[in-house]
Amino acid sequence: MPITKNSVVAFAYTLTDDDGEIIDSADTQEPLVYLHGYGQLIAGMENALAGREAGDRFSIVLPPEEAYGVYDENLAGAVPRSAFEGADEVAVGMQFQMEFPGGLRVVTVSAVDAQHVTVDGNHPLAGETLHFDIEVVSIRPASRDEIEHRHAHPAGGAH
Ligand code: ZN
Repeated sequence: MPITKNSVVAFAYTLTDDDGEIIDSADTQEPLVYLHGYGQLIAGMENALAGREAGDRFSIVLPPEEAYGVYDENLAGAVPRSAFEGADEVAVGMQFQMEFPGGLRVVTVSAVDAQHVTVDGNHPLAGETLHFDIEVVSIRPASRDEIEHRHAHPAGGAH
């Protein structure tokens, strides 16, 4: 059966960046499992999987606009340390929620000095072109529970 809405799909993938560095992967022994048709994957990836059959192998290249967005410099910059008065500790790599004109965003601390904390509210993969090598491992129809919950369950059962 080809992948359509309400298919539960298991697929293996290798995700690399423009330099061929591996960012993430899942092999055929422990594939990623998702319910097709509900936006659980980034749109470019879900579109590329539609209509595929088990055993199909293919590659896709998603520019930032179809993946995690272009890098927005307005979401990154230094803020006064006083803005973090409520936090016990502020260190590189820590994540906080901050108010932006478009609403709350999760920011990651990229640098800290005596007066300033530099934060970045972009997704870690913003600005990256993503290269996926995909192998469809299995496809099955979703159970009623899965469709109701809008996600895949292990072996399709209830939980
Ligand atoms: Zn569920």
